[in-house]
This record gives sequence, structure tokens and C-alpha cells, in this order.
Amino acid sequence: MRVTVLGKSPAWQDAGGACSGYLVEEDDYALLVDCGNGVFGKLRARIDYTDVDSVAITHMHADHFIDLFPFAYALLLTPRQQPVPVAGWPGTSEPARPRLIAPAGAQATLRAVGSAWGGEELVETAFRLEEYREGSPLTAGPFTLRFAGMPHYVPTFAIEVKAPSGRRITFGADCRPNEELVEFARDTDLLVAEATLPRPERTGIRGHLTPEEAGAHARRAGAARVMLTHVSDELDAEWVRAEGARGFHAPVELAAEGLVVEI
Ligand SMILES: [Zn+2]
Repeated sequence: MRVTVLGKSPAWQDAGGACSGYLVEEDDYALLVDCGNGVFGKLRARIDYTDVDSVAITHMHADHFIDLFPFAYALLLTPRQQPVPVAGWPGTSEPARPRLIAPAGAQATLRAVGSAWGGEELVETAFRLEEYREGSPLTAGPFTLRFAGMPHYVPTFAIEVKAPSGRRITFGADCRPNEELVEFARDTDLLVAEATLPRPERTGIRGHLTPEEAGAHARRAGAARVMLTHVSDELDAEWVRAEGARGFHAPVELAAEGLVVEI
């Protein structure tokens, strides 16, 4: 399978960048993992959005889901999705309606956000929404998806994408230092680990990892490779890489828009 980084920024996107979004493909099946601000435009630059089969969301923070709204408008309003001919498009009786695989409670959040301007059911009309739960794997085309709860500020789930070959990518989502991710990512082929913080939070409940902590989680999990992500362009990339490598005890990859990794 192949993963393409569409966006890797933390809650505020890089100059010209996008927040969390990763396109995972096997043959002609396309799974989008997370859809944060800026991701829809980056997705469009790479594939036709009507060819996205499924979208899986790690948690309901804006930088991981808010571009579901422009994505939904596109699916519902674009001329070629209409049932009758429109401006040169022949019309279709089978408009694309991707699966949306989101954590329990996502429907309520999407309705609350959309209701601010009368779009309460916008996302669930455009997508086939299903809410997942920890301990209940799902099949999405050729992929098997598993979910594990992570300690963060809202219900948050790491997502494992397993290909028919048995190879695995583990998306760690957002999390404070924990054992759950180490167990869930055990012997994974690629851990995509957030490395948001230049230093641990000084006050309050922790919610994110430093690059060294992210690398250490990958080392403890026995991951073959680690990609650090959720890193602002305001942090020095070489410093982030070096800190990650210190935790991992080997070189690490740093997510960058357009980076493609074959697993
Ligand atoms: Zn978050």
C-alpha cells in the first residue's frame, strides 16, 4: 500500500500547507485518514475527490475533520453529481457517496458544527456515516481497520490500516505519552506519530508528544519505521528530526506535504 501525506500541520496550518490528512491507496482503492483544514484542496491536487472510497477520522478536533464540510459541499453541489444534465455534464443516477468512518459521537459533533449555518445534516447527507468503536475492526475495501483509544483532550483513536499483504500502518492520532500506543503499534511497519511540542506542556493536562517522545514510542513499540507529523513549519525541521532519532535510536522520517511512502 502507498501513503501520501496531504497535510501534516498541527492545529494551525503551515504557510501554504494543510492540517492532518493522509491518502492511503492499494490498487484503485482510496482511503483518506483525517481531513483537517486545508486537506480538501491538497486532495484535489492529487486525485478526483469522487474517487475517494472511504474517509476515516481519528478524532473530532477541527484540524482532523473540518474539511469534511467543503468535501461535503463538493459531493452535493458539483454539476457531475447531479441526477440531470448540468452544464455539459450528462447527469448521474449514482453520485459518489464515500463512507465516513468516524468515532462514536461524531454525528452529534458534525450536526452541532453544521447547525451554526443551517447545515446540520450536510456531512451525513454527502457521506455514508458510520461510527466505529474500539475493539470492533472494520473492512474498508482491501484494508482492515482497527482502532485504539488514545489519551488526548477528546475521545481519540489511533487507527491501524492493514493491507492484504499483512503490512500495517499505524496512525497514532494525537496523544500524551502513554502505553496504549506502544501496545497498539507493536511491530508495525510504519508508525505515523505526532510530534507537536518543542517541549512538554508546562501547565495543565498533557495532550501531545515531543519529537523525542514520539520516537521513543516507536522504539518501544518495535516499529520498523516512524514518521513524525503534526509538526509546524515554525519548528526547525532538522532539530525535530534529530530529537526524533534520539528517541528512536535510528533515523526518522519527517512528514512533508506530498511525501509518498510505500509499505
Ligand atoms: Zn487533537
